[in-house]
Amino acid sequence: MEALILVVLCGLAWGSFLNVVIYRLPAGLNLAKPPSSCPSCQARIKPYDNFPVLSYLLLRGKCRHCGTPIPFSYVLVEVLTPAAFVGLYLHYSLSFFFFASCLFTTALIVLGFIDYRHKILPDRITFPGIALALVYSFFRRDLPLLQALLGAAVGAGFLLLIYGGYYLVRKKEGLGLGDVTMMVMVGAYLGWVKTLLTLILASFVGAFVGILIIAVKKKDLQYMLPFGTFLAPAAYVALVWGDRILAAYLSLFQ
Ligand SMILES: [Zn+2]
Repeated sequence: MEALILVVLCGLAWGSFLNVVIYRLPAGLNLAKPPSSCPSCQARIKPYDNFPVLSYLLLRGKCRHCGTPIPFSYVLVEVLTPAAFVGLYLHYSLSFFFFASCLFTTALIVLGFIDYRHKILPDRITFPGIALALVYSFFRRDLPLLQALLGAAVGAGFLLLIYGGYYLVRKKEGLGLGDVTMMVMVGAYLGWVKTLLTLILASFVGAFVGILIIAVKKKDLQYMLPFGTFLAPAAYVALVWGDRILAAYLSLFQ
């Protein structure tokens, strides 16, 4: 129980830091300085207004000084990070795989939210992620280096196929190469089977949301959805529940 509380508290603090990364990294700003301030009125955010989740609720989602609404995605990151860590803890307890998966999940959260806000997937996250996943493969038995490389190849290969197919049919780019790089990272960590699962889950949910947007907002098919935002939660689901989903799927054929 103590460990679970510790995981929640660390997740809350880490989520706060991830917000800083998500909002400063795409703008090329320093992650350490200056201290947090309101993007609208520049007022420094006091330590007592900087508690994860709690401050958002107490301030009713607005800046204390100028009343500008704080984006909902801030509090979403602060809630999702500890929740995702708890999910990992319940599956792996405090093992080496838990800590490695927290890092992997961190990359997913940052990528998912940056893609949502800026429609980019920065190499500064994906490249170190790929390097870490490959180094990590030397230390794990379930996914040795060759399997990690195969996963990376499958992740990138399938996206390049879709990318190429879309380009041939519509004569323009449907996905960014950032999605391909992100799937290299996901593939190197999850292996090829769960990488396929990630792609299938993300495509289904992405298509569903896309159809909803077209139906509700009357936007046409040109409207671009950030695919990384769907790949990130799909990869997390494949990481934590992938084995169960695959077992359930295979049992259909027995
Ligand atoms: Zn303000």
